Amino acid sequence: MATTISAGDVGRYAYCALNWKRSLEGIEGKKSARGIRRHQEVSKDVDALELFQERARWSIQTSFLLALFAISGAALALELLFLDAQTPLRLGLIVLSVGWLMGSLYLFLFDLYFRGRSEQIIRKARLVEGEIKSSDSGKAPLLVAKHVPLQGRPDYVVDRDGTHIPVEVKSGKTPPRPYDSHVMQLAAYCFLVQEHYGTRPPFGVLAYPDRQFEIRYTPKIEDDMLRYLLRIELALRTGEAHRDHENPRRCMGCSRREGCPERLA
Ligand code: SF4
Repeated sequence: MATTISAGDVGRYAYCALNWKRSLEGIEGKKSARGIRRHQEVSKDVDALELFQERARWSIQTSFLLALFAISGAALALELLFLDAQTPLRLGLIVLSVGWLMGSLYLFLFDLYFRGRSEQIIRKARLVEGEIKSSDSGKAPLLVAKHVPLQGRPDYVVDRDGTHIPVEVKSGKTPPRPYDSHVMQLAAYCFLVQEHYGTRPPFGVLAYPDRQFEIRYTPKIEDDMLRYLLRIELALRTGEAHRDHENPRRCMGCSRREGCPERLA
């Protein structure tokens, strides 16, 4: 059995210990076509947003640099004018300054364009606002905890004023309040993000199709998640895990309900 536990495992175990065990035994959960499509679409939008944000950043930085060159060139040309130095050099400097200034303005407009496109994507795809730091599209690093056997890759991470916020995208019907198992999975991502980026996220986001929930990453939520981690480690050692609830509705909604020996519905 695997010794490293994924954030997804924590969520599955929090849903039902037997669900987690069955996933470990290779029993695939039923994924709806709609869910797969939603993840693919969000992943594409996040990648596009990351690209536009990168281009906007590059444009504004280069624009400032060119503006600086233009100002320095113009200042030098003026100095030469007062010193009555050679005309060709002065003229060359003025031409260069005008060129740099035009380039700077051009890139400034590009920056505005890319920012506009980024905002459009955020609005249209209902993404969480912020600078994309990593996305679950293959390029993002797998986050691995240093002192506990936990790893995972959030759907995406955004940077808001220096704090990193993990976002977990969920498909299916939007619930009136987030499911506990989703909250535990998100807490695992918050833990990993803190270890990787060095700052504690004040909250993480669960993004359901119709609503986003900001879940505060409190010490209590962290403790609950670590407790689940311990229970999973124990279950890995003993090989024992059974249904740990009496809720038939949970079995009804379970993706590994088919053929489950302990199901209630
Ligand atoms: S069907 Fe019920 S008992 Fe079986 S794994 Fe799912 S939630 Fe657990």
